[in-house]
Amino acid sequence: MDHFQLKNGVLYAEDIPVPQIAAEVGTPVYIYSRATLERHARVFRQGLKDVGKIHLAFAVKANPNLAVLRVLANQGYGADVVSGGELERALAAGMKPEDIVFSGVGKTRAELTLGLDKGIGQFNLESEEEGQLLAEIAAARGAQAPATLRVNPDVDAGTHAKISTGKKENKFGVGIDVAPNIYARLSKLDGLNLRGVAVHIGSQLQNLDPLEKCYARMGELVEQLRGAGHEISHVDLGGGLGVPYKPEDNPPSPADYGAMVERVTKGWNVTLMFEPGRVIAGNSGIMATQVIRIKPGVNSDFVIVDAAMNDLMRPAIYDAWHHFEAVEPTGETMIASIVGPICESSDIFTKERKVDRVATDDLGIFRTAGAYGATMANTYNSRPLVPEVLVDGDKYAVVAERIEPATIMAAEQVPDWLK
Ligand SMILES: *Cc1c(COP(=O)(O)O)cnc(C)c1O
Repeated sequence: MDHFQLKNGVLYAEDIPVPQIAAEVGTPVYIYSRATLERHARVFRQGLKDVGKIHLAFAVKANPNLAVLRVLANQGYGADVVSGGELERALAAGMKPEDIVFSGVGKTRAELTLGLDKGIGQFNLESEEEGQLLAEIAAARGAQAPATLRVNPDVDAGTHAKISTGKKENKFGVGIDVAPNIYARLSKLDGLNLRGVAVHIGSQLQNLDPLEKCYARMGELVEQLRGAGHEISHVDLGGGLGVPYKPEDNPPSPADYGAMVERVTKGWNVTLMFEPGRVIAGNSGIMATQVIRIKPGVNSDFVIVDAAMNDLMRPAIYDAWHHFEAVEPTGETMIASIVGPICESSDIFTKERKVDRVATDDLGIFRTAGAYGATMANTYNSRPLVPEVLVDGDKYAVVAERIEPATIMAAEQVPDWLK
């Protein structure tokens, strides 16, 4: 359920007509709905109502916009961050340090130090070497860093290879077979309060089976670690729940997920931690674009829009599907390849797909753009950095400005010796 619906033939974001935002802010533009974000945050929490003690940390990388993070902070969410920059953002948005979890496979000395300086709640260690370094930095200041060990459970998430993270050949975590020995060595270090294990096997999961298999393996590991005398108080189950991108997609609901978690983790007697990203933000955002012109093609017409792969990278890098709709649909359809103006053949949003009929200057939207959308945007082809808007009922605000090429150029210099 989201709040991007037609009213009298025009697409609205909550109570604001999309054409109003397009006219006032310009296109392309990301539009987020506060009510939708809040709804998803509540529904996810509600799904876990029978699970005992939980901690919810929004995966900041899915949508790091400060206003979006503030909405989620107000819903009681902490943050799962994967860089020092994300850590600073989560704090700037009002998340409490103790609610912040630091994941990420390449945390630097500077980032680990920052996490300790800010007093974050937990470090999810990705290797023994990282654990040793964190322990060394913490011990030098007489501190103990709260940490879990991220484990690679060797489970195929059944998702796109580029967003799969839990197979043994992936770079994330330590192998579940070697985890008990690494855990034993790290747990002896003075600078660490090693208190559990973490896992995250991938994103856009369409089916609960891989997650269930993964969590069951984590349960066995917890038992094994306890058997070896370790106190396990926290298990971080990661994120990964999928969302519908196509109208016919039917991923597991947060309620289905919660029921599975409840069943598999019964008796673990730990605080269960979750790191949802896409399931909260994905359908809370759309990207609006305007048709520049239509050009005849060999197999179908090309609809050339003013959004491009630099604004929304997912189709180019993951072959992702984003549903296209006209902002003022006529009921007619067309077979079209919707493409951006960038000089790359991968700058294509729909390939010979049946879509709402649109003409030059019409507005259209790509749905499910609230996660891994604006945050991956860049300025390739010297295009502006795409702006973001947050709608709340009958008001909206620009929550990230369009950054013009001149601003970016101003940060570049031609050295004197070239002049
Ligand atoms: C990306 C990521 C998430 C969030 O994944 P979603 O599929 O967006 O829910 C959670 N935890 C970690 C460690 C991640 O890298």
